Amino acid sequence: MSHPSPSNTAQDALKAADARRLILDGLSPVTGSERVELHAALERVLAQDVIAPLDVPMHDNSAMDGYAVRAEDLSAGSETMLTVVGSALAGHPFAACLGAGEAVRIMTGAVIPDGADAVVMQEIVRREDDRIFIPAGQQKGRNLRRAGEDLAAGSVALAAGRRCGPAELGLIASLGIGEVVVRRRLRVAFFSTGDELASIGQPLAPGAIYDSNRHTLSGALARLGCELLDLGIVPDRPAALEAAFAKAAGTADVVITSGGVSVGDADFIRELMARMGEVSFWKLAIKPGRPMAFGRIGDAVLFGLPGNPVATMVSFYQFVQDALLSLMGVTPLPPAARFAVRADFALRKPAGRVEYLRGRLLRDGTEPGVTLAGAQGSGMLRSMSEADCFIVLPEDCTSVQAGDTVFIQPFHGLVWRTGKRT
Ligand code: AMP
Ligand code: MG
Repeated sequence: MSHPSPSNTAQDALKAADARRLILDGLSPVTGSERVELHAALERVLAQDVIAPLDVPMHDNSAMDGYAVRAEDLSAGSETMLTVVGSALAGHPFAACLGAGEAVRIMTGAVIPDGADAVVMQEIVRREDDRIFIPAGQQKGRNLRRAGEDLAAGSVALAAGRRCGPAELGLIASLGIGEVVVRRRLRVAFFSTGDELASIGQPLAPGAIYDSNRHTLSGALARLGCELLDLGIVPDRPAALEAAFAKAAGTADVVITSGGVSVGDADFIRELMARMGEVSFWKLAIKPGRPMAFGRIGDAVLFGLPGNPVATMVSFYQFVQDALLSLMGVTPLPPAARFAVRADFALRKPAGRVEYLRGRLLRDGTEPGVTLAGAQGSGMLRSMSEADCFIVLPEDCTSVQAGDTVFIQPFHGLVWRTGKRT
């Protein structure tokens, strides 16, 4: 792996886009797969294509409640009278063939009877006993769902690399398939570094703080469906760190640490990482989250994230998450959602770095807007908790005025990203 040297100066800090590319370029998915029951495939990544063994739907069927008719019986310019000879309900087909001048009462989802080639919706039909009167202008093929129109037998219903969400579970079920082959889970080891850190339940020594990064990372990783190896808090001591890195790299596909990668801070962590593996230290042209380490120790991919709690989360979502999806076998990677909205705030910023502000979407006006989610210090987790999006200010931006257009990345969509390119 070749990465820009760790001795970057402020002027040659690595651009966010370049860092993303350097990270993603060198990754290939974990090997190993398992066959799981349908529901256990939620958030898992398909290791094989799912081929449709049958047409969905199996038969031409009705998209409406109404009457199945022969289009050739319908007169183009005037009302048509037909005789109702039977009915077809979902699961209860009409057994005979439709003759000239005949119609069958049909419900949504019922198989189209032989001979019929259109459905007339009941709202426009007048019925008198067994006779119906259909207005002029109805056409062949109307209100029909064709056999195989959703999925054709033999076709790839879902390609390998697709991450399964609720829609995929339903789609697989619609094919009558109860098990799928998915990639094995990604094993991710993580620990926090810092002599000042205490775990929940421990007394706080003077100057100590509770470790929060392990918990934000644990939540973010669990949502991705990773197997978690929480290695706790490791003090800023070379021997302890070396042991933690060795254990993590020996058992996991990915090692994520937080803290200790800033310039001049606990320098021996950098030395240690570099000695144990092939690791580059980057100064990224971003805020928050300037320092970051990336590389490998043994077969494991290493991410050394900055310690400030907001910086940890920003780096995770901007650089680590897609790398994990890629290692999980998700292909193609879904593009991150990015929307232009109106800024409801003003600020100045230096050129040359991307800033990821924490924002709150405004849903009151006619035009979507965004405001800042409270104080923006990189240690203030509250800004992440109160935010529902990142506001991404590009390198060349030097100020934002209220009313300007800015780009946001929403934290949540209605439906999770599953790996489908739109
Ligand atoms: P560092 O990157 O180690 O220089 O840490 C930067 C800042 O983040 C310091 O104020 C640390 O106390 C804080 N910090 C580091 N790790 C954590 C953690 N796991 N939880 C909360 N704060 C942390
Ligand atoms: Mg530290």
